[in-house]
Parts: sequence; structure tokens; C-alpha cells
Amino acid sequence: MSETEMSVEKHVFEADVARLLHLMVHSVYSDKNVFLRELISNAADACEKLRYEAIVSPELLAGDPTPRITLTLDEENNRLIVEDNGIGMGRDELVEALGTIARSGTRAFMERIEAAQGKEGAQLIGQFGVGFYSAFMVADKVDVVSRRAGSEHAFLWSSDGKGSYTVSAAELADAPARGTRITLHLMEDTKTYTSRWTVERIVKDQSGHVPVPISILEKPD
Ligand code: ADP
Ligand code: MG
Repeated sequence: MSETEMSVEKHVFEADVARLLHLMVHSVYSDKNVFLRELISNAADACEKLRYEAIVSPELLAGDPTPRITLTLDEENNRLIVEDNGIGMGRDELVEALGTIARSGTRAFMERIEAAQGKEGAQLIGQFGVGFYSAFMVADKVDVVSRRAGSEHAFLWSSDGKGSYTVSAAELADAPARGTRITLHLMEDTKTYTSRWTVERIVKDQSGHVPVPISILEKPD
């Protein structure tokens, strides 16, 4: 089957991912704000990976050489969108990066947090950097549309964080020209992340050192 013919594939999360998601959603962490630091740091990493690959393959920049991260506040639909024009992910990368725990740091975090209780857990999240899955602390559905630099295909990864996710081909018109767009469908009690004041403050507090410019827009195009 070619990539474009791919229909919606359903995948079950690796057991460790399911455990981690359960821990994050069901423990009472006070500092949910860290999810934004994690998504921005991934976006900046993706821009850095592109810059590096473009040293030998400058055509990957395709007329858009300036890295950027855009946060879009969609108050009407209660969504927060984090988009970058970095390296992007293909289908296999989406499955590998967002369906497994490849990182030893996350494993160590899980062992510590399973032994810890509420308040200490919040500190652990801050210390370890729990990565992409922290999005599910604030969102009950996460959609990731990605197009790898140089690719003619885009893919949609989608999950409610409850044990499985789907991957399907996306229309190029619905994807970034290059890079990754992450749409967080916010929960009822995390609506504050569509407020410019809140988001600006968190970005300033947590992501001031990020080497890629971050813009905040209201409403998607
Ligand atoms: P880490 O950043 O420590 O590797 P994360 O859980 O934050 O762990 O992310 C897991 C992986 O998902 C990353 O290593 C990367 O391969 C992929 N990823 C996440 N967000 C993006 C993004 N915006 N662009 C490209 N790849 C991404
Ligand atoms: Mg990360």
C-alpha cells in the first residue's frame, strides 16, 4: 500500500505509554503549565534538526529558511494550536515517536513518579521534562498533523490519550507546508490556555531561552 492510499490505521499504545498517560491524567499535578514548555521545546528541536539537515540538503528549506513557532489561541472552539516549520515527521516517525517510550529519561521518570505522591509528583514533572504526552494533562484529544521537510505526504496522528491512537494520510491543504501542527482540544477546566495573558506569561516564564521566535495569534486562518 502506498502512503497516499493508507486509510485510518488504529494503533494501541505501547504498555508503558498507556501507564504514563494514566499517571499524568489521574494524578493531581498543580503545574499543568509544563505541557507548553514541552511542546515548545519539541518545536524548537524540530527547527534545529532541520537547520542541521539543511547544511547538506539546503533544498529542504524550500524558500522558507527562517524557523518559527506559532501558538494559535482559538477561544471559540476551546483549542490551542502549537505549530512549527521544522523537520516534521513521516508516518513511521509519528508511530515511533508518539506511540512508544524510546527515551530512558521517561522511564526513569515513571519509576520515580509511581513511587511518589501528589505534590512531589508535580516537582518530578518539572524536573524530568515528561515530553509530548504531557499534552494530555490539559487536552482530552490531541491531533498532530505533520509533513516532513521535502516530502509530498502529510499525516495525521490523533488520540484521546486513552489507550490508542490513529494515523491516517492528511490532505496537503490541511497540513503545514513543512513541519508539525499540534492541536490541543482543551478540557473544560483548562480553557485558560486560550487566554493571551495566560499563554504569554507561561511562555515568558518557561520558554524565554528558546532560540526560535515564538508568535501568539488569535484564531486559526
Ligand atoms: P524528547 O523531546 O525528549 O525526545 P518528547 O516526548 O518530547 O521526547 O518527544 C518525542 C519525540 O517526538 C521527539 O524526540 C521527536 O522525535 C518527536 N516530536 C515531538 N514533537 C515534534 C515536533 N514538533 N516536530 C518533530 N518531531 C517531534
Ligand atoms: Mg521533548
